[in-house]
Amino acid sequence: MNQPVDVLIIGAGASGAAVAWSLAETKMHILCLEQGDWMTPSSYPSAGRDWEQRQLGEFHYSPNRRARETDYPVNDNASPIKIANFNGVGGGTVLYAGHFPRFHPSDFRVRSLDGVAEDWPIDYATLAPFYDENDRMMGVSGLAGDPAYPAHEPMMPPLPLGRSGAILAGGLNKLGWHWWPSDSAIASTDYEGRARCINLAHCTSGCAQGAKASTDITYWPAAIRAGVELRPRCRVREITLNEHGMASGAIYYDADGKEQFQPAEVVIVACNAVGTARLLLNSGANGIANSSGLVGRNLMFHPYARIAGYFDVETDGNRGPGNCIWSQEFYETDRARGFVRGYTFEFSRGQNQVMAAVHGQQIGRLSWGAGHHRDYRRLFRHRTGMVAICEDLPEEHNTVTLDPVLKDGHGIPAPKIDYTLSDNSRRMLDHAVARATDILTAAGAHDVWHEAPLMDGGWHLMGTARMGTDPQRSVVNEWGRSHDVRNLFIVDGSIFVTSAGVNPTRTIQALALYVADSMKQRLATLFD
Ligand SMILES: Cc1cc2nc3c(=O)[nH]c(=O)nc-3n(C[C@H](O)[C@H](O)[C@H](O)COP(=O)(O)OP(=O)(O)OC[C@H]3O[C@@H](n4cnc5c(N)ncnc54)[C@H](O)[C@@H]3O)c2cc1C
Ligand code: SF4
Repeated sequence: MNQPVDVLIIGAGASGAAVAWSLAETKMHILCLEQGDWMTPSSYPSAGRDWEQRQLGEFHYSPNRRARETDYPVNDNASPIKIANFNGVGGGTVLYAGHFPRFHPSDFRVRSLDGVAEDWPIDYATLAPFYDENDRMMGVSGLAGDPAYPAHEPMMPPLPLGRSGAILAGGLNKLGWHWWPSDSAIASTDYEGRARCINLAHCTSGCAQGAKASTDITYWPAAIRAGVELRPRCRVREITLNEHGMASGAIYYDADGKEQFQPAEVVIVACNAVGTARLLLNSGANGIANSSGLVGRNLMFHPYARIAGYFDVETDGNRGPGNCIWSQEFYETDRARGFVRGYTFEFSRGQNQVMAAVHGQQIGRLSWGAGHHRDYRRLFRHRTGMVAICEDLPEEHNTVTLDPVLKDGHGIPAPKIDYTLSDNSRRMLDHAVARATDILTAAGAHDVWHEAPLMDGGWHLMGTARMGTDPQRSVVNEWGRSHDVRNLFIVDGSIFVTSAGVNPTRTIQALALYVADSMKQRLATLFD
């Protein structure tokens, strides 16, 4: 049998890495089990010319299309938005784009402000010091003074606007609408041993340069130096409980496929809002930590709209990371718009060579035959645009459950997603497409295309084990501890109460650091 550990963390992604690093200073014996591998940046697609092809294969953001041994399949047939993730040391941060906004203070109070969903049991001020701590560890580039936010200081200058950013900002200026250089988890200068971004635009298939802050190169080296043990290729099947209803450890399959038991005094789950719900539901006879019946419920994505314009002038094409500017003109509720809450526009640059052709053909703007080259020249380096990230409200019928048939390579039931786009989200998407068209037209686009909701855009996973003070209305308490199993904690996006209208990872990690800090404050009683 494995030696017992003080703290067992399951999942080595954005939140698992942060909680491991923070707890390391306690000198407890901390072990993390991760189903995926360590990454080798030199083998990322961005190190070779065939990178766009590999991005659509072994580095695809859909686990079903990537289908590595280390992935688990997801049945998302009953959802208009499909799951995107990455399973390995670093988790989703290996593939993420590094857009790194914070929540607004209002995001924690949507019930009080708008009469929908629930308020969080904590507020922006509670998280502010942990946002700052996480920013230092990940390294954030941006420009202080964004009027949409409480004051905070990015440690590096913003990424360049580039041609596309300047064109789009011009459109926003004509309309008098808010924009600001984006906060990004991408180093614009050399930072803490990481080289600065060299603007090659391969970010979402892994950054071989090390400029993008994935946790395998930020938190994990520091956590391991501080004594944390990380065991890759270990897939946890279930969390076990003892006769007192406390977590006693986990059963997992090791790198050789052998079943193992890992005893632990405290268990922390960090498998993301799909993986965590799956693991809790697959533990015990009928699931654990679920007296509320809410494990797996209230799944939130951010419904995305993608809107692009085609310009006569040259845009960035394949240059630069996607991130340049954002607009939060339509972030806060204005009921005259026909929906509650709001969205962020995140502006991107252009498309790469192959995608410009593949996508151009898909949307009917690239012909075969005599006009092919003429059409391609109009597409490549002549397109730019944005996504709208719409706040999704929690609804109990949007669920992660265990699929009765589909299983992963170890025979563990796969997660099944049932999700319906709400009327509020539909109206918000329509609004975003109309306003984005205004921006692109003002910026000089002669042709506008959109997709809403973005089918492949299920990369923000939230809400399936939400936090709260009422054990009947939430799964964990206000510092991440299970109401039912007192030595079981959850730190990933599943504990979100609402989704806000921004990318979630900065908040996921700030929450993980906050939960770790709360645990450290209560060390004496943690093992009761
Ligand atoms: C293409 C793409 C682009 C994105 N862009 C952005 C962006 O620009 N900005 C942003 O904020 N967010 C972005 N995201 C989302 C971001 O990656 C996630 O919000 C973040 O990684 C979630 O952190 P987490 O700790 O909850 O889970 P993850 O980072 O997903 O980590 C979970 C880990 O748990 C492991 N695990 C799961 N189940 C088990 C098990 N049973 N046993 C052992 N290990 C297990 C997984 O292998 C994984 O490594 C993007 C994601 C993708 C895929
Ligand atoms: S554009 Fe910058 S962050 Fe993106 S992959 Fe290239 S070096 Fe890394």
